[in-house]
Amino acid sequence: MSDEMTDAQKEAFAAKLRREVGNTGTPTTARDPVNQPMIRHWCDAMEDANPLYTDPDAAKRGPHQEITAPPAMLNAWTMIGLVPRVSDPEDPASGVYAMLDEAGYVGVVATNSEHVYHRYLKLGDHLTGVVKLVDVSDEKQTALGIGHFVTTETEYHDQHGNHVGSMFFRILKFRPGTGRTAGAIDGDSTTERPPRPRPSRNQNTDFFWQGSRGGELRIQQCLDCQRLQHPPGTRCPGCGATNMGHTVACGKGALYSYVVAHHPRVPSFDYPLSIGLVELEEGVRLVSNITDCGPDQLKVGMPLEAWHMQTHEDVSLPVFRPARLPRNLTTLAFDDVNVGDELPLCPIPLTPTLIVSTAIASRDYQDVHHDRDMATKKGSEDIFMNILTSSGLSARYVGDWAGSDAVFKNLKIRLGAPNYPDDCMTMSGSVTAKREADGEAIAEISFQGRNSRGPHVTGTVDVALPRA
Ligand SMILES: [Zn+2]
Repeated sequence: MSDEMTDAQKEAFAAKLRREVGNTGTPTTARDPVNQPMIRHWCDAMEDANPLYTDPDAAKRGPHQEITAPPAMLNAWTMIGLVPRVSDPEDPASGVYAMLDEAGYVGVVATNSEHVYHRYLKLGDHLTGVVKLVDVSDEKQTALGIGHFVTTETEYHDQHGNHVGSMFFRILKFRPGTGRTAGAIDGDSTTERPPRPRPSRNQNTDFFWQGSRGGELRIQQCLDCQRLQHPPGTRCPGCGATNMGHTVACGKGALYSYVVAHHPRVPSFDYPLSIGLVELEEGVRLVSNITDCGPDQLKVGMPLEAWHMQTHEDVSLPVFRPARLPRNLTTLAFDDVNVGDELPLCPIPLTPTLIVSTAIASRDYQDVHHDRDMATKKGSEDIFMNILTSSGLSARYVGDWAGSDAVFKNLKIRLGAPNYPDDCMTMSGSVTAKREADGEAIAEISFQGRNSRGPHVTGTVDVALPRA
């Protein structure tokens, strides 16, 4: 339809869309006040263990002296929910969406979200949001397809009329099937490539591969002197016994050494290919691939965790990715943070459960986040993570590094490659600025979450930190 439009018609259509800019919706009052159950569901789904959100005693000792909602939940409170109410006000962008749908731009994806937090929300706060349509772009060619960006701005007030926060939000409405790349996204060659070579198996190594199929990393152990050895052999190199069994390793280790292979390229692998010598906590070392981080992110000594990559119907291969570190239990002081400091890598395995449960916990019932058939009908390869979750996970990542008393002032993200199930997004970040503003000591963190297709989320956040 739109591809048959002349340039003049396209311009006229864009002008018609833009006539809606400036429309302001009627105020939407949240269905429920800020409440502990919704916060708990959010924290469970996002795996955010900051006690200030759920533990009254810890919250009492924190910077707000009472339970607060995770700031990234800002726009979850006024989401319409699964069953719209008669009283729900019309979205000021609904006229634009209807025109775009009618013209064939039925695909929809959120691309940017910027939150500003004036204060954290407390239990019992009752939010009202007012949405304003602030921009509709000309037709653009994007990787996903031809479409228009639609930008809204929402201001949130509490029950007393105080301005508590704002959100600037951009979506792309696009025509499915008009993407520039049609599947040829960088690194997206997994579907057609030949499988990896099958591991050779014999009676000495059978236990290892059997364990791996069940998600266990098994290390051969001498039943006489308890010595561990890898790779497995017929007898113990310590005492010479042939009485061999195995132990199950915990899967945690550290990178002892590594090489990065660029050539020659075997079609079953992704290049550059990181090959690490991993020292397990149990003390033995094994050679394996290091996944879910770039070669430039490899550091000798970095903590790693095993996962099992299914390479054939009957073979799983233990490989390693950066380990998720435990939360920082003491909040970083402003003076202890320096520009250039790097945050530790953090893998976020993208399970279907994560994608669905976080969408529901953020009260986003759009079918593309939980229904694969509807997602593909709308131009997506699979269900994909919603933008509120990308915000929530980014905040969790920075918060886990900074400590629970760090206070978020804003959170700005831009989305790229979608987060589809059965991939892994690895977060990285660094301190990019420090400043003092309005009596507060602020550190700016820039972060990125990459999956196998490229950067999914890129953003910055300002956090206020306690002084030393
Ligand atoms: Zn032995």
